[in-house]
Amino acid sequence: MNILVIGSGGREHALCWAIAASPLVEKLYCAPGNAGIAQEATCLPVQPLDFDAIVKACRENKIDLVVVGPEQPLVAGLVDRLQYEGIRAFGPRANAAILEGSKGFTKDLCAKYGIPTAAYGRFTDSAAAKGFIRRTGLPIVVKADGLAAGKGVVIAQSFAEADAAVDEMLAGRFGEAGAALVIEEFLDGEEASYFALCDGMDVLPLTSAQDHKRVGDGDTGPNTGGMGAYSPAPVVDAAMEERILSTIIKPTVAAMAAEDRPFAGLLYAGLMITKDVPKLIEYNARFGDPEAQVLMPRVFGDIVPVLDACANRQLRHVGIRWKKEAALCVVMAAKGYPGDVKKGSEIRGLDTAPAGADTIIFHAGTKAVDGRVTSQGGRVLGVTALGADVASAQKAAYATIDRIDWPGGFCRRDIGWRALGRK
Ligand code: AMP
Repeated sequence: MNILVIGSGGREHALCWAIAASPLVEKLYCAPGNAGIAQEATCLPVQPLDFDAIVKACRENKIDLVVVGPEQPLVAGLVDRLQYEGIRAFGPRANAAILEGSKGFTKDLCAKYGIPTAAYGRFTDSAAAKGFIRRTGLPIVVKADGLAAGKGVVIAQSFAEADAAVDEMLAGRFGEAGAALVIEEFLDGEEASYFALCDGMDVLPLTSAQDHKRVGDGDTGPNTGGMGAYSPAPVVDAAMEERILSTIIKPTVAAMAAEDRPFAGLLYAGLMITKDVPKLIEYNARFGDPEAQVLMPRVFGDIVPVLDACANRQLRHVGIRWKKEAALCVVMAAKGYPGDVKKGSEIRGLDTAPAGADTIIFHAGTKAVDGRVTSQGGRVLGVTALGADVASAQKAAYATIDRIDWPGGFCRRDIGWRALGRK
């Protein structure tokens, strides 16, 4: 088969790395890709929201399957367009990607179908929002309804902070995404993520992960797209996995089918585990980044038949197996991230850095310039290692990081601390 992956981050490098290993793949393309992806796939200068150009690239390269990485094209209807053109695609249609595209939609779905989540209200009016905040009490969580690249959430510890978040979002800080708000009860507990493939009807449970959102060691500083992750998450044991599937994932897939919005693709549940009860914080409609960078290396065998069966509504006919090792990924970002960063600094030593066969350097924001690899964004590399447990995966990942010569970058030194603290 010929496969086209859409996107250019660490998630897409991890997907391309796994797909390229399949004997079923004849040619692998990525649009637009990056310097690391170029080692696995032919990169095409096509942007994820340029649907006409994507369709053209599919025709020219005889693409059998498109795998969509990021959320924006899913929410904007790329899979609808590809299906209309008769091109098979992995990922939800827009009317199902709304699970990620509108937090208010998801909260209403949870309320209607009894899926456990935080108590909430939806608002477009500032006075009504502030009244709800007073009635609910502190701390309180104020969220922009739409896509805000993980930045549209404020956990307010005071009424002044909550009011300011309401005013800023309604004034357009996140554009249209903040024209409506979800305000919800603060949930206290341990966060974890759970992933499942769905084909509209059936669910293929995958596995769990935990990520590190804050930029600094000890979970300090501003939120980011994610500074590292590991899988599986120790807090999600077999009993918890069963609870997540039976109270959250399966009811959601059934609810979406009942609403005539069948969800096909990767369903990523952000969860808060409070007193052994999982509650939904949010859904994403695609693989996480950096979570894909710990999931893909743990897949035992070929990922392509699974992605293809999902796109083909044949999920019930396939299975997936996982390596017994844990995977841990440390993100290296350009200095200044998540604020403004300088692009174009050279990264050396990537070829010789991996400290073992089970260590992979995924590229998130790189560009090859005259044979040199340079930084091209905030999050630039993801170093993933497998190990017998989180501790040995962590050791191998940092051993590799210490061999990468990039004065313009930094990383957290404590990825995995929560899992290690459990021991
Ligand atoms: P979201 O974009 O909805 O995943 O929110 C981003 C982050 O905010 C989550 O990963 C949580 O750490 C935190 N968060 C969101 N909603 C809540 C909540 N109701 N209670 C506690 N923390 C929350």
